[in-house]
Amino acid sequence: MRVDVLTLFPEMLEGVFGSSILGKAQEKGLAALRAVNFRDYAYNKHRTVDDYPYGGGGGMVLKPDPVFAAVEDLPKDPDAPPRIILMCPQGEPFTQRRAEELAEQRHLVFICGHYEGYDERIREHLVTDELSIGDYVLTGGELPAMVVIDSIVRLLPGALGNAASAASDSFSDGLLEYPHYTRPERYRQWDVPEVLLSGHHGRIEAWRREQSLLRTLRRRPELLERAQLSERERAWLAEQRRSIELESGE
Ligand code: SAM
Repeated sequence: MRVDVLTLFPEMLEGVFGSSILGKAQEKGLAALRAVNFRDYAYNKHRTVDDYPYGGGGGMVLKPDPVFAAVEDLPKDPDAPPRIILMCPQGEPFTQRRAEELAEQRHLVFICGHYEGYDERIREHLVTDELSIGDYVLTGGELPAMVVIDSIVRLLPGALGNAASAASDSFSDGLLEYPHYTRPERYRQWDVPEVLLSGHHGRIEAWRREQSLLRTLRRRPELLERAQLSERERAWLAEQRRSIELESGE
């Protein structure tokens, strides 16, 4: 996979791209991550990339020409046209499903804004996707782009040491992940659940599934509406919901 990030602050990406799973994915040749400073495509005297908004008002607006020129100059494979992704608080909320879908692509281009906003023609005539990482506003698109890229690259086959760990991660099957424990068996007065020491795989799997369902019910009940559950699990969850309501006096 090739990933190009159009930014005015390429130095922000260096540490993240060179470290941990992203760094290793590059060493293994699974991904090539590049930062492109689109100021290099501002062909005016002062190399400005922003300007005042038509109609007045505060803040500066990113001009269309350097952004279009930077995207058009990227090497492209005609058999795998890039997805051009605008990082934007008004975009589609980013999810694990979208990460999985983007992990199938061969070329991703991220556009990181700054200032008040983008000239609307970038949104209308250049990009294929708009993504938001949450309902809050950051100074620029670099941190959001790094969040999204990290979640995609770790899904590339071979990127993680243990592929099974991505499969059981939260959201992969629509639920939150079950709790984990490691040595020692007793820490202070807190014991590891007995079932995890039993060596009985069937019981361990059943316990994990139950914990995953319970944790999702308690923390993110709305996820259960779309999760794939058996009739037995639905009935069990309905019972658990009733006891939670009783506990909280609802
Ligand atoms: N005026 C814009 C608005 O109200 O929608 C916010 C602009 S924000 C200060 C500057 C840039 O940061 C955006 O263009 C975008 O690239 C990035 N950004 C900020 N919050 C974001 C979020 N939640 N998700 C994705 N990108 C975000």
